[in-house]
Amino acid sequence: RISRRRIECRRDIHRMNIPFLDIYESLKPSEEEKAKQKQLMALLEKHVNKEWPEARLYLYGSCANSFGFKKSDIDVCLAIDDLNVNKSEVLLKLADILQADNLQNVQALTRARVPIVKLMDPVTGISCDICVNNLLAVINTKLLRDYALIDERLRQLAFIIKHWAKSRGVNETYQGTLSSYAYVLMCINFLQQRNPAILPCLQRMERTYAVNVDNAECAYFDQVEKLVGFGSQNRETIAQLVWEFFSYWAFYHDYTNEVISVREGITLSKHEKDWTRRVGNDRHLICIEDPFEITHDLGRVVDKYSIRVLREEFERAAEIMQYHSEPWVTLFEPY
Ligand code: ATP
Ligand code: MG
Repeated sequence: RISRRRIECRRDIHRMNIPFLDIYESLKPSEEEKAKQKQLMALLEKHVNKEWPEARLYLYGSCANSFGFKKSDIDVCLAIDDLNVNKSEVLLKLADILQADNLQNVQALTRARVPIVKLMDPVTGISCDICVNNLLAVINTKLLRDYALIDERLRQLAFIIKHWAKSRGVNETYQGTLSSYAYVLMCINFLQQRNPAILPCLQRMERTYAVNVDNAECAYFDQVEKLVGFGSQNRETIAQLVWEFFSYWAFYHDYTNEVISVREGITLSKHEKDWTRRVGNDRHLICIEDPFEITHDLGRVVDKYSIRVLREEFERAAEIMQYHSEPWVTLFEPY
């Protein structure tokens, strides 16, 4: 393994911006698709409010955090205030109601890790998963969306990284690789640490937004319209950032000692988080702190086999960015 290799200057990096931006544009959902999602949400709200007048529906995940590709499914959270609510009962009831309308393939999966109702809307062609009271996901969706509004390079970078991860088969939590959510957090932290910084650390600023969910205090500066232009001192472009991102994860990240923290905008030490050894199934081989559930390591799905796969993929990507004449082609070749 090559470790901590110094990356050499690549003088022709700028000619790579347009091909990378073209890929980004080709993955973005259209306004028409967004409109269809809204239409389906309105339909679901109508049904839900008949049964639970106080309940609210939220979009979360990639359809709402601005990091979603076109033709994605949507994730919806049904929020019911009643603390004693039995999630399985709610989901079964919900499935009954939606079945009665002409929605297709309605299924309640009450025994899943995150219990949901799945369905497909034949009018818009959109598939959807509905969960109950998963409010932390709704709030971390807002955090991601707010970061994306500060500097468009975040969305460009995260799209390229997600597209790479999906093409290379390293976006599969059930196989021990990382979730899309984890990759976006890696991109945010990376841009917080550029010099000059491209993104601020919203959780260390004045708290203009604060909620308490499941005993987690979620607070940060959310008036992001005031932060547009924050990163303008830094002129790095998308091709440079993709290259530096992969070099960082291939050669510079200290896997033995460091934790990526969007909450602090820096890397923390594994020691201070007490993430130095395996506890149960949490091996902490690559550490990415959840911004709100701070005892939660998004790298905990990674095991001793998949860490090798991941690191080899980071190294492959870094090598391609360093030496290939058309990295935007080879980077995304199926594995
Ligand atoms: P994709 O485009 O691949 O579907 P996604 O943004 O929907 O990407 P997922 O990883 O499927 O990403 O996660 C959906 C949402 O669920 C995330 O945006 C996040 O709000 C929440 N989430 C996912 N995994 C976790 C986790 N381990 N801890 C907390 N929240 C999570
Ligand atoms: Mg999703």
